Amino acid sequence: MPRADLVLLHAPSVYDFRKESILYGPVSDLVPSTPVFEMYPIGLTTIAEYLERSGFRVRIVNLAVRMLNSDRFDPEALIRKLEPAAFGIDLHWMPHAHGAIEVARMCKKLHPDIPVMFGGFSSTYYHEELIRRPEVDFVVRGDSTEEPVLKLMQHLTGRPGALSLADIPNLTWQEPDGTVRANEISYSPENLDHVLIDYSYVVKAVARYRDLASVIPFKGWLGYPITAALSVRGCTHNCRTCGGSATAFAALHNRRRPAYRAPEDLAQDIHNIARFSKGPVFILGDIRQAGDEYTDRFLRAVHGYQGPVILELFQDADRGFIRRVADALPNWTLEISLESHSEEVRKAFGRPFKNGPIEDTMRYALELGVQRLDIFFMIGLPKQDYQSVMDTVDYCRYLMADLDQGPSRRLIPFISPLAPFLDPGSPVFENPERYGYRFFARSLEEHRQALVQPSWKYVLNYETEWMNRDQIVDSTYEAGLRLNRLKAECGVIEQVQAGRTEARILKARRLIAQVDDIMSIQDIERRAKLLRAIKPQIDDANLSTVCDKAELNVPMRGIKLNLPRAASLFVEQTLRRLLPQNRKDVVTR
Ligand code: SF4
Repeated sequence: MPRADLVLLHAPSVYDFRKESILYGPVSDLVPSTPVFEMYPIGLTTIAEYLERSGFRVRIVNLAVRMLNSDRFDPEALIRKLEPAAFGIDLHWMPHAHGAIEVARMCKKLHPDIPVMFGGFSSTYYHEELIRRPEVDFVVRGDSTEEPVLKLMQHLTGRPGALSLADIPNLTWQEPDGTVRANEISYSPENLDHVLIDYSYVVKAVARYRDLASVIPFKGWLGYPITAALSVRGCTHNCRTCGGSATAFAALHNRRRPAYRAPEDLAQDIHNIARFSKGPVFILGDIRQAGDEYTDRFLRAVHGYQGPVILELFQDADRGFIRRVADALPNWTLEISLESHSEEVRKAFGRPFKNGPIEDTMRYALELGVQRLDIFFMIGLPKQDYQSVMDTVDYCRYLMADLDQGPSRRLIPFISPLAPFLDPGSPVFENPERYGYRFFARSLEEHRQALVQPSWKYVLNYETEWMNRDQIVDSTYEAGLRLNRLKAECGVIEQVQAGRTEARILKARRLIAQVDDIMSIQDIERRAKLLRAIKPQIDDANLSTVCDKAELNVPMRGIKLNLPRAASLFVEQTLRRLLPQNRKDVVTR
């Protein structure tokens, strides 16, 4: 098997999740991952593809998914066999604060001379703390690290003309005497023209390393191969708990305005993905952010695409826009985050749109044939108390029963806590008192330790002026129970499914109380023993807590994925490209 120059490793949230007894709660109910957060950031594939264009061999190994898929999979044995010029580890989302560091430690233990680099939003925020850890050699900062990682790899492999460490943009590194250097974030491209976001790298990697298991984005992906198409890096909005908000991008990544994917390229990405996957394509970012001209060009370019496409709206839309989406994409789903039914809470969160216009948007979508309309509400918002959460659930009854009057129930509300962590770099994290928040963890190390607490109540890194951690947990389970019953009542889900979800919520509620009791025991060893004893029940309650994850899936028919075929096509095409060259070589020798 060819040796990779750079191995990009994706760690599980908590490295020892197969041994630890942790009630994760509903932290990942609304994302494709399990609570292990096995899905790797899209940036791993763009970095890999970018470096491959310059002659480097890059291999992605999703350790998290491999550990999830097999109890016998031994990450240490795999890492021992790898001999790249460098390891790269993503610490993009904070829930990886434990696993990413443990994996780095393992790389250093097994290969003390191979440099370890970190990247991602959280790495950028905590670059100084990370670089002081013995297992980390470099942190590549910023929202676009393809070029800086390339420059670093050229340096590490001694390529002619390689830059010195001091000249590599966005790099945090250490002088031999331990002095920390943080080079300026001078690489922040204005658009996304430099990257390919169509998973062609993944197809190529499957062919080259004959290792489909390591590039699978999340458990169950082969059965539901949802992919993401990236329209933008950055955002025009400023939601208070979001580390991807406009102010966070400016402060952390030196990004003054969003970098957009050219609309025609975005449409082409979607078509390219369709060559290997019939699964839904989720367009990340509201396509209206770059303005009307962008929206029109994209919808013209993608017009007629038959596969399922999921779009997200960050605020209300007029009928004309919804009509253009419906005309362009016959199989479209909309996702809207309302956050709360309360305009006051929503405004305090940084989304000042009113109920009237957003309800009109939902009506237009239902009238004009949306396949699914997913509406998201969150718990843990500014100015939101326990009663406000329950009122949100009552509002969901109005949405499902009155607003969606069609025979097929297409409007599906979801409610979930902001958990386990509010993002470092978000307005709330930077200014907690101003927004009524209190944090239990501030540093990377504190977050790392929080992740191995036995239930999500103790992992939560915050509470608010309006709800403490107990109330956030209680309101989550109660809202989950009520919404689940409502969905069954309104015919959105089957009674049988609602029964299963209710049983899971009640079980999780009992377990969280049991963990609280165990935590009140002073004897640490006895505490650990009791927690170990309830691990089987905890593991059982860790998937799909307040709703069934499958509720998020848009319906699909027929063959969903043809990655192996796409991989063999890739090999064929490569051989075809090489053959005439080989023949010429033979003739001229
Ligand atoms: S949560 Fe708000 S700030 Fe963050 S990406 Fe979405 S719209 Fe932008």
